[in-house]
Amino acid sequence: MKAIVVGAGVAGLALARGLIDAGHEAEVYEEAPELRTAGGSVTLWPGSTAILDELKADRGRVGRRLETMESWTSDGRRLVTVDLTAAERRYGHPTVHVARSELVELLAEGVPVTYGAPVEHAAPERAEARLADGRTVRGDVLVGADGRRSVVRRALWGGDPAELSGWVTWQGFTTVPTSLTGQRRAVMIPGTKGLCGLIPAGAGRLLWWFDVRSAPGKPFWAGDADVVERLRERFGGWAEPVPTVLETMGDIDFFPHHRQSIPRVWGKGPTTLAGDSAHTMPPTMAQGANQALEDAWLLARSIGDLRSTADVGGSLRAYERARSKVVRRPARIAATEVTNMHRPAVRLVPDRLATRLNTAWLRRASTYLLTAS
Ligand SMILES: Cc1cc2nc3c(=O)[nH]c(=O)nc-3n(C[C@H](O)[C@H](O)[C@H](O)COP(=O)(O)OP(=O)(O)OC[C@H]3O[C@@H](n4cnc5c(N)ncnc54)[C@H](O)[C@@H]3O)c2cc1C
Repeated sequence: MKAIVVGAGVAGLALARGLIDAGHEAEVYEEAPELRTAGGSVTLWPGSTAILDELKADRGRVGRRLETMESWTSDGRRLVTVDLTAAERRYGHPTVHVARSELVELLAEGVPVTYGAPVEHAAPERAEARLADGRTVRGDVLVGADGRRSVVRRALWGGDPAELSGWVTWQGFTTVPTSLTGQRRAVMIPGTKGLCGLIPAGAGRLLWWFDVRSAPGKPFWAGDADVVERLRERFGGWAEPVPTVLETMGDIDFFPHHRQSIPRVWGKGPTTLAGDSAHTMPPTMAQGANQALEDAWLLARSIGDLRSTADVGGSLRAYERARSKVVRRPARIAATEVTNMHRPAVRLVPDRLATRLNTAWLRRASTYLLTAS
C-alpha cells in the first residue's frame, strides 16, 4: 500500500512512521521549508506513551514523566491532587510532558518528508494531491494530516467547520528556577481572572500558560504589544510561583481556542483525515496531540490490515467511526472550556476519588487503551 500524507505534524509523522514500520510506503508532503518545531509543550497520557513505544520512538530521551496533577487556588492553597502514577500502574505506561519540538523531532526520525511542498488541492475520490509546483501525487490512500486549516478537509467537506470558543492562551517557557521547575507535578490554578497552568517539560524548562476569556468572535489582546503588562496586572497578585513566572516569561506564543462538531465519518473513498484536520478542539483537556497519535495508530493498523485496494473505503470509514466515537468525548468537554472555570466546589472532591475518575477517564478517551486493556 502507498499512502500520500499531507502534513508533517504529530499526526502525519506518527502515521508515516507506523506505515513504514509495517512495510508500507508513505510519502509525506509538508508546506513548511523544514520541520515545524514552534509551540509549547504537550502532555502525553498513557495511551500516547504506549503508542510512542509501539512506534519505537525513544521517548526516554525527551520530556519529563509526571507523577501528579494538582489544582490550586490563586492564593496558593492546594485543592485536589490527582495521582498520575495510578494510571501508570493500571495501564503500564507513564504520563509525560514533552516540548512539541522534541516530540516532532522524535517522530520525524527515519521518516522521509518532502519539505517546502504545500498541497494546494486534493481529489478525494482518486487519492490525489496537487502540489503548489504543479505536480500531482497519487497513492492508494490519501490522508489529510494538515491541521486546523486543512486543504484536504476543505476538498472533503468544503469550508472551515471551526469557530472561536471565546478563550485564548498565552504561553511560553521559563528556565528560571521556580518551586516547580524540577518537579514532576503539573499545576492548574483556575481563578476568577482566568487560568494559569504550570508544567515542567524537562531540561530545566517550565511551561507556563494563561487562559483568558475573550470577547466572542474577537481574540481579546491579540496583537497587543502590552500583553506582558496586561498579564502582570491581571495575575501578578497570585501566589508564587506565578509572580516569578510573570517576571521571566521569555518568548510568548498566542493561541485562540477553536472548536468544531465532529462528524461520524470524515472521509470519502480512499481519502481520510487524521489529527486536528478532523477534530480541532481547545487545548483545555490536553488532548490535541494525544488524539492525533491515537488517529495515527489506528489508521496505520487499518491500512496495514488491508489485503487489497478494493477494501480501502470500507476500512477507512471503519477507522473514522471508531475514532469519532472516542474523540468526541474529550472534544465535547474541551469545547465547554469547563476546566478553565473557577469552581471552588472542586475542593470537595477527595484526592482518591479524583485519581480514580482520572484513571477511568484516560481509558475512555483512548482507543489504544480501550483496545488493549
Ligand atoms: C507550529 C505549531 C505549533 C503548535 N504549538 C502548539 C502548542 O504550543 N500547544 C498545543 O497544544 N498545540 C500546539 N500545536 C497544535 C498541536 O500540535 C496539534 O493540536 C496536535 O499535535 C495535532 O497535530 P496535527 O498533526 O493534527 O496538526 P499540526 O500539528 O497542526 O500539523 C499539521 C502540519 O501540516 C502542515 N500543513 C498544513 N497545511 C498544509 C498543506 N496545505 N500542505 C502541506 N502541509 C500542510 C503544517 O505546516 C503542519 O506541519 C501546534 C501546531 C503547530 C503546527
